[in-house]
Amino acid sequence: MYRYNKNTVLIMIYDLIIIGAGPAGLAAALDAKYLKLKTLVLDAGVAGGALSQSYPWKGVDSYLGFNNMTGKEVAEKIADHVKSSGADIHEMEEVTDIEGTGPFIVKTEKAEYQANAVIVATGIRGVPRKLSVPGEQLEGVDNQVQDPDKYRGMRVLVVGGGDSAADSAIGLYEAGASVWLAHRRDELRATDENREKLEESKITLLWNTEISSINGDGKVESVSLVNNQTGEKSRLQIDSVILCIGSAPANNCIQSIGVKTENVCIKVDENGMTNIPGIFAAGDIVSKIKRILQALATGEKATYSAYKYIKNPYWK
Ligand SMILES: Cc1cc2nc3c(=O)[nH]c(=O)nc-3n(C[C@H](O)[C@H](O)[C@H](O)COP(=O)(O)OP(=O)(O)OC[C@H]3O[C@@H](n4cnc5c(N)ncnc54)[C@H](O)[C@@H]3O)c2cc1C
Repeated sequence: MYRYNKNTVLIMIYDLIIIGAGPAGLAAALDAKYLKLKTLVLDAGVAGGALSQSYPWKGVDSYLGFNNMTGKEVAEKIADHVKSSGADIHEMEEVTDIEGTGPFIVKTEKAEYQANAVIVATGIRGVPRKLSVPGEQLEGVDNQVQDPDKYRGMRVLVVGGGDSAADSAIGLYEAGASVWLAHRRDELRATDENREKLEESKITLLWNTEISSINGDGKVESVSLVNNQTGEKSRLQIDSVILCIGSAPANNCIQSIGVKTENVCIKVDENGMTNIPGIFAAGDIVSKIKRILQALATGEKATYSAYKYIKNPYWK
């Protein structure tokens, strides 16, 4: 169905719009199809979310039924499943704003759409955090590893203390790079499996270590380090720096409509609904546990809640 907006631009009308086609958005879309909601999924990148955009090369852990598969393979499999169900997915179409009090107008750089309910499943990757040290703009500084094989034979410093840093360091080491992992604390916030892999590897762990500058002429040649306990300074000859120090979610599209957030997450009730009736959220953006299965479960819950909100069935 279509209608004209006040500028006489033709806009399409949906029951439900899902923002983000990562695991949460895709799970939500599959259930929406099953529940016969007229649904549109919009993603700023490609379907699959973090799996295809952040770790396409890495083996996916602890996702029931998907062993020995990379992020890219799992992303393709789940995206193909949802696409083959006939779901309407627009890739490379970033949502910039949501307006209204229901129905909602969802705006992208390309078009405007109307929906009775919206599920926000935008993940937490947003904008990667910076170290804010000199040299961060040099060639060879990145915030994710797209293809570990490109680093074979290189000297790489990974910065960070969570699983993203651990995964990146291990992936690079297994691909044949010489790897250092620098963390500003004396302990990682990583899974036991990753800790074990790090211990078994020849990755050099630099504890209590901060980067004071990245040095080089156009591209990375070395980093200056400081031990934040002893004050000892050192310099490491390096070809590349991978910064895995988290990200600030790009929640811009929900800011003007007034969806409440807490730290980096959107606040939802037990049904996955935000403080704005008709706007739901799912996936990493709402969950303490940031894993695929959790994203799928919260995506599914958000769709069932949206269905009840839109259709008001007698059994709700
Ligand atoms: C390096 C790394 C390794 C991991 N390994 C594992 C693992 O082995 N096993 C596991 O279970 N979990 C793993 N995870 C976590 C898992 O990938 C996430 O929990 C899961 O992807 C979250 O799904 P999501 O749909 O909430 O968000 P995401 O997967 O981040 O997807 C969000 C989507 O929203 C889109 N988007 C964002 N803003 C907008 C906007 N304004 N408009 C339109 N689209 C937008 C993005 O383009 C993206 O496609 C890993 C994460 C990382 C970073």
